Amino acid sequence: MKITFLGTGSPESHARRASSGYLVEVGNDRILLDCGGGVVSRLIESGRLPSDITHLFFTHLHTDHMMDYGRLIHAAWDEGLVSMQVTGPAPIASVTEKLFGEDGVFSTDLRARTENQGSQEVWLARGGTLPRAWPLPKVTEVEPGFTFEGYGWKLTSCSAPHAQPWLTCMAFRIEAEGKSFVYSGDSALCPEVEALTQGADVLLHWCYRMKEETSNTFIASMSPSPDQIGEMAERAGVKKVFITHIRKKTDTEAGRTEALVDLKSKFTGEVGVAEDLTTIRL
Ligand SMILES: [Zn+2]
Repeated sequence: MKITFLGTGSPESHARRASSGYLVEVGNDRILLDCGGGVVSRLIESGRLPSDITHLFFTHLHTDHMMDYGRLIHAAWDEGLVSMQVTGPAPIASVTEKLFGEDGVFSTDLRARTENQGSQEVWLARGGTLPRAWPLPKVTEVEPGFTFEGYGWKLTSCSAPHAQPWLTCMAFRIEAEGKSFVYSGDSALCPEVEALTQGADVLLHWCYRMKEETSNTFIASMSPSPDQIGEMAERAGVKKVFITHIRKKTDTEAGRTEALVDLKSKFTGEVGVAEDLTTIRL
C-alpha cells in the first residue's frame, strides 16, 4: 500500500498546503480520500492524473474536503474517463447532479464541448469518438459504518463527531496486504474512531488545535490536541501517527516541533507532521 499526502492543510489558502486529500494505491486501484481545494494540482504534481483515480471516497462534505470535486471529474473526463466510482455521504448525489446534470453548473460548458463542431474535431484529433458522452460519475451515498470491498483491499468506516447534524462525517480504515491505514477525517475523539484505529500501522489524524488553545471550550472538545491524539493512539496500539489538517498559524518550525513534542509525550510509536506530496509505503 502506497499513500501520498496530497493536501494536508485546512480551509485557509496556504501556499505550502492544499486542503484535504490523500491518495492510497493498492495494486491497480488508486483510491482518493477527499478532494479539497488544490488536491487536483497536487495529484498531477505527484505524477498521477485525474483519470488514474479509480475510487473517490468523501469523509464529509465540508468544502475543504470536496472543493476540487468538480475539477477532478471534469479533468478525468477530458482525459477520456467518463465514469468514476464516487462514494460519500448525502447529498453527494445531488451535488454531482448540480455540477454535471442536464441543468447543472457545467451544463453550458459540456454542451459546448460536445456539440460545437470545432470542439468535436479537437476531440476526434485527440483520439476520441462521437457522440461524446458527458461525465457520469457512479455515485453511491453511504452512512457511517458502510464497508467497501476492493480488489485486494477493504475500506471500513465509522461516524466521526465533527459537524453534525449539518454534515454526516466519517473516519476510514483501509486494510491491504496485511497492513492498515486509518484516516480520521475531521473528528473529535470518540470510542468508535478509537475502535476503528485499533492496531493500525499508520494513523493520519486531523489536528486543528494546539494544547494551549483551550479558551473556546466547544472547539477544544471537538478538536483533540496533539497530546490527546497521542493518548488515544497509544491506547489503540498504533505504530505511527501523522497529524494533518495543519493551520497556517501553527505551520512554523516552532509550531510543528511543539506539536510533535506534545504528541510524543503520550505516544511511544513514531510520529510525523504530514506534508503535501510526501509518500509512505506500508
Ligand atoms: Zn470538516
